[in-house]
Amino acid sequence: MYIKECDLGSNKPYCEVIDGFLPNLSDYYKNPVPYRVDPFRIWGNLYYVGDKKVCMHLVDTGKGLILFDSGYSHHYEGLIGSVKALGFSPSDIKVLIHSHGHFDHFGCGDRIRREFGTKIYMSKADTDLLYEMPERALMKYAPCKEDSICYPDATIRDGDVITLGNTSIECVLSPGHTPGTMSFFFHATDGNTQKKVGYLGGVGFLTLYREYLHEFRLDMQMLSIFKQTIEKLSARDVDIFLGNHPNHNCTLEKRQYMLKNPGENPFVNPKGWSIFLQALEKRRADFERLGY
Ligand SMILES: [Zn+2]
Repeated sequence: MYIKECDLGSNKPYCEVIDGFLPNLSDYYKNPVPYRVDPFRIWGNLYYVGDKKVCMHLVDTGKGLILFDSGYSHHYEGLIGSVKALGFSPSDIKVLIHSHGHFDHFGCGDRIRREFGTKIYMSKADTDLLYEMPERALMKYAPCKEDSICYPDATIRDGDVITLGNTSIECVLSPGHTPGTMSFFFHATDGNTQKKVGYLGGVGFLTLYREYLHEFRLDMQMLSIFKQTIEKLSARDVDIFLGNHPNHNCTLEKRQYMLKNPGENPFVNPKGWSIFLQALEKRRADFERLGY
């Protein structure tokens, strides 16, 4: 049985996190190809089309595809190649939902909209914050100098539901990583069977340091707001837990486990969601205790 459910890393001073941010990505920026991941079916009509750095998920609704997040801009060929490799047509991507307003999650959005006429959604809260202060998208860390912010066609609020084909996505505002981070709840389908999917829209602590909140004029209470978000989300009942970076739910390790153990599926774990949120709250409390 697959055991490990998440890897949230360790606390580091803000200056170390910031100083290490671009150097850590330089190899990936020069050549994203080695960071590609063969796309695969997670369960039923739910697929992984992301790379080793950031998750992208695809849902085949029977009346078009829903894509969650579009990754770094320079991963475009990899993302579209993954959609095609699964046997889908990228022109069927009818809906693209961005989990929050950072460059590493909306990087391919504008190009996908231009090429395929896809309708893009993001939270009203993050959209308004980016119009007010575009620096909050962290574009200075983006792989290409010409990259720009991908603004949505429609904004979503807490409780909104986006429906396409057989799938209805419940949007739940989950402030913490950004004030407008959204989490999503929906059913994945396999024939007559369904599983409850919970998608956590952002958990990184880089944006919760005091220096960061001050620099980007964000609510200095965000760390306590994040605690409320974790409590709220913990009440949910989830069979399949998804994050938006592979380390959140050990995506790549679970995939390797699936390949070695045909017939087993570690993504289906009714305890995974609460295990992750408990680990997240411990990490958050440590972060608060250490004074960040
Ligand atoms: Zn982010």
